[in-house]
Amino acid sequence: MTEAFQHESLPGRVLFGFGTVNELPREVARLGLRRVLVLTTPPQAAEANRLTLLLGSAAAGAYTGARMHTPVSVTEEALALARDVGADGIVAIGGGSTTGLAKAIAARTDLPQIIIPTTYAGSEVTPILGETQDGVKTTRRDLRLLPETVIYDVDLTLSLPPDLSVTSGFNAIAHAAEALYAQDASPVVSLIAEEAVRALVSALPLIQADAHHRIARSDALYGAWLSGICLATVGMSLHHKLCHTLGGLFDLPHAQTHTIILPHALAYNLQAAPRAAVALARAVGHEPAPSALHELAIHLNAPIALKDIGMPQGGIEQAVEQAIKNPYWNPRPVDRDSIRGLISRAWAGDHPTAA
Ligand code: NAD
Repeated sequence: MTEAFQHESLPGRVLFGFGTVNELPREVARLGLRRVLVLTTPPQAAEANRLTLLLGSAAAGAYTGARMHTPVSVTEEALALARDVGADGIVAIGGGSTTGLAKAIAARTDLPQIIIPTTYAGSEVTPILGETQDGVKTTRRDLRLLPETVIYDVDLTLSLPPDLSVTSGFNAIAHAAEALYAQDASPVVSLIAEEAVRALVSALPLIQADAHHRIARSDALYGAWLSGICLATVGMSLHHKLCHTLGGLFDLPHAQTHTIILPHALAYNLQAAPRAAVALARAVGHEPAPSALHELAIHLNAPIALKDIGMPQGGIEQAVEQAIKNPYWNPRPVDRDSIRGLISRAWAGDHPTAA
């Protein structure tokens, strides 16, 4: 039976393929832009340089200082440059950190954004922005943050190191997995979510074995786009709450934290979400899905223990307190003891259980 639902599709133009970055000048002109500022992170400065050459007179300059968690100080620096050069639009090439900077500038100026993602984070299709100031990360959701155009160029992902590709892929799987049991889930988002997980789970082992596997790279980027749509369209639950809490408290790396927590959060939640459990098992190809994802992470040499990415054991209690404070909606009620058990297992790298 199809249950009642509400669904809202978000606007946005997407180009997908190999070599699609060459379409950038046409897309800039399509938006009527004449002086765009190109953004990226320091390690990807050469990519920004390449884009300014490609854009010629339509490039007003480049800012290569984007950083993880979108610090407001970085945004102010980039904003000053945007004003100095008279930018009328933003082009961002990079992962979620660069996309975050583009959104932060758009939030303050309403400049149009063209995003060229090079990881699987999915931020490029969401109206969500997390910013950090004085060590505090605040997140907002506003449709005006949505980029106008996204150019997915598979070629640009070939350089993403295999380990980072795997954890970034798990970050994407997490968006889709939690969409399957969201309070505001809809049949169309569930279809998208299942397809996203299927594409990513099949691609990641091939990428870990060969970073230049073009077919697997295209499947992973396609899956990342679909996962981004899930994150953009429905609410996230315990898994994302735990990752935001742990990342904020202990400055843990974003994608790795998602990789470690996901099997544990799913093992906890799927008990209360039988339809999602079946869909996820179908997408992963094994049942139960949480164990299969845990085994996949081990097989792909991804981190499986919070203790190995910098979380102190003495921090578990603090994390439990934070995680149960202002909880996100969750299919299964959360209580102090069960969350303590979950975080403790994730800290140690134990097998996920529903306890
Ligand atoms: P990232 O953007 O920080 O990139 C990680 C590193 O990989 C950087 O050093 C970057 O320069 C490098 N890199 C990126 N692509 C590369 C490539 N193709 N080849 C070589 N190196 C490459 O990491 P991320 O995981 O993509 O993004 C994390 C950030 O995004 C976090 O701040 C997170 O909160 C945010 N995020 C936001 C949303 C949202 O919807 N607002 C969604 C997901 C993530």
